[in-house]
Amino acid sequence: MLEITQLCKTYATGDTALREVTFRVPRGQMVGLIGPSGAGKSTLIRCINRLVEPSAGRVRLGDTELTRLHGRGLRQARRRIGMIFQEYALVERLTVMENVLSGRLGYVSFWRSFTRRFPGRDIENAYRLLDRVGLLDHADKRADALSGGQRQRVGIARALAQEPELLLVDEPTASLDPRTSRQIMRLLREVCAERDLPAIVNIHDVPLARRFVDRLVGLRAGRQVFDNAPDALDEAA
Ligand code: ADP
Ligand code: ADP
Repeated sequence: MLEITQLCKTYATGDTALREVTFRVPRGQMVGLIGPSGAGKSTLIRCINRLVEPSAGRVRLGDTELTRLHGRGLRQARRRIGMIFQEYALVERLTVMENVLSGRLGYVSFWRSFTRRFPGRDIENAYRLLDRVGLLDHADKRADALSGGQRQRVGIARALAQEPELLLVDEPTASLDPRTSRQIMRLLREVCAERDLPAIVNIHDVPLARRFVDRLVGLRAGRQVFDNAPDALDEAA
């Protein structure tokens, strides 16, 4: 369970990006975060992984209050959060397999992956993940030889290799065509359910979100203006 309680953020510039945002994401549920540009979606994601320091409020993941952590405790907690990005953030000159394995190390110690030998268990797990996302035949290809949809599948496998307790997904389909976008959203929903993970997907494509997420949270000017099943959106609009 992820719990966000009265989360507020005002940047040093005076821009208020979040105003007392409160909601929970149970395990196995994928929440779509929607709202116009500037609504505060990226800020919310960044307050959860603490790339941005919240001004007030709490974020709790399981028994851990993320908003209280600093230094090493924060670095360890971040490794429990699987991140999936719009532009995939793969290392282009590494293979698909190496990119997936890098998830085992976390992003901080990432560069060690060139020299470090991985235990057989990690390798087997990485093959299983590649099989799950449909890329088993591409394990030894360089990341830059893949299509956008395939890269995003690598991004998903890498996040899962971390054995995360939460998935944070930032505009996963913004660089993909409509058909590939649907496939990626379907895969995300499936892995979230299979692994019983809470997930937040920041997504500006509302029709796509409605079709694939379990629940929608809407932000506008930093305020939460919607929190309901996707089907309830018509009545609210
Ligand atoms: P969204 O992801 O929904 O487009 P953002 O979280 O990026 O929204 O932005 C919310 C508000 O916070 C906007 O007014 C934006 O200008 C402001 N903002 C975002 N990042 C920063 C920053 N680093 N410094 C100052 N203001 C920021
Ligand atoms: P997004 O597509 O996620 O909404 P933006 O174009 O709003 O991204 O922001 C791009 C980058 O600029 C982000 O890192 C964001 O934090 C930063 N940013 C956004 N608004 C502001 C602002 N008003 N002042 C400073 N930085 C900002």
